[in-house]
Amino acid sequence: MFDKVLIANRGEIALRVWRACKALGLQTVAAHSDADRALRHVQLCDTSICIGPAPAPKSYLLHEKLLHAAKLTGAQAIHPGYGFLSESASFAKAVEEAGLTFIGPSSDAISRMGDKVRAKQAMIEAGVPCVPGSEGAVPDGEAEIFACGKKVGYPLIIKAAGGGGGRGMRVVYEESELLRSVTMTRAEAKAAFGNPVVYMERFLQTPRHVEIQILADRHGNAVWLGERDCSTQRRHQKLIEESPAPGIGRALIAEIGELCVKACKAIGYVGAGTFEFLYENGEFFFIEMNTRVQVEHPVTELVTGVDIVAEQIRVSMGLPLSITQDQVTFTGHAIECRINAEDAWSFRPSSGVVTKWVAAGGPGIRVESHLYGGYRIPSHYDSLIAKVIAHGATREQAIARLKVAISETVVEGVDTNIALHAQVLQSKPFGDGGANIHYLEQFLEAREEK
Ligand code: ADP
Repeated sequence: MFDKVLIANRGEIALRVWRACKALGLQTVAAHSDADRALRHVQLCDTSICIGPAPAPKSYLLHEKLLHAAKLTGAQAIHPGYGFLSESASFAKAVEEAGLTFIGPSSDAISRMGDKVRAKQAMIEAGVPCVPGSEGAVPDGEAEIFACGKKVGYPLIIKAAGGGGGRGMRVVYEESELLRSVTMTRAEAKAAFGNPVVYMERFLQTPRHVEIQILADRHGNAVWLGERDCSTQRRHQKLIEESPAPGIGRALIAEIGELCVKACKAIGYVGAGTFEFLYENGEFFFIEMNTRVQVEHPVTELVTGVDIVAEQIRVSMGLPLSITQDQVTFTGHAIECRINAEDAWSFRPSSGVVTKWVAAGGPGIRVESHLYGGYRIPSHYDSLIAKVIAHGATREQAIARLKVAISETVVEGVDTNIALHAQVLQSKPFGDGGANIHYLEQFLEAREEK
């Protein structure tokens, strides 16, 4: 049990975690960088402590600083949010060794699922369908690499075992490109993730990205909370997410959901987690597991009514989940737009003072944002500044409400992708539902040609 939580993150997720802690009656500590003194949650937390200068490697990513901050402020638990140290097995281990609680799965579970090769092996053992590919890491010898490529078939995708954030992937269309691609991806993976191990998968041509949210406690209970369709992506980064996934049969989703729950139990997983799949021609293929709360968790919260962050904190306290699978119900449809501070055409991040911020409202609208008028967006971090989420009885109603909400949202002083969201929501393929992972990039190309 603990009663004081250190929030080791910033922006909208830090505020979301603060709200969940407060609703649970917990005390909060904001561990923030020099550039983040004026953040909303820093003002709202019971205590705040500066952990270093603006660049994340000198503050949000420093294990010792965070552990020291927890010790100084008497926090017994650390919530990592998403990004930063949320999927760092070594940080989770350091927290455990300091006698504190890491709000997330055990360091062992993070390290197993964080290695995509090991994660896929665990899923195959648990009976979860995976994208066909190299069983395990790509071997060293040239002949072996060619044999591996031949077995997987072309086109194939080379992926870094330690990869994340849409980086460390390369598509290979023909055998003649294989060796060079393996060498380059290995070098990039080593530089970016400190791990040169790569694996191969069949490159699916027109898949959708559909993921399953799960929650599991220390008492052997686990539930799945439906799916999210996150196919609207640019450079493998999600922009719009929704639940349920349009046009996929409920029985198939339930079957996959049950398999994810079974896999959680098999690996002894505790906490919130997401099983990511590619969906193509009526089939699901596991690609990776995220062992943390995700940016897009609110769409699931709106359709199920479950407070995922609160459940995540509760299970870390050793409490049982407050819901059973029988109690999980799905109502209506929810869609989230990620509002980024970036140039609408070049996608270059935009920083500076937000001179005006007006959040949307009305029935079924939820806004997650740390913005306020006069807030200065630092240039050092992720460009996500707000999430606008709409819930409706039907997908049509959710889209209609979201369009209104996007039209009301005002951010002045920095560039944003608000206008792009309005255009995508208006487009026919999005309206029809079920567009694949290439849709947004095709939409952007067509926009440039105009
Ligand atoms: P990351 O951890 O970097 O997000 P993922 O394994 O989740 O990497 O893949 C990110 C995205 O890359 C997917 O949502 C999908 O768009 C694309 N992708 C990954 N694997 C494949 C594959 N085998 N075939 C086609 N696209 C893929």
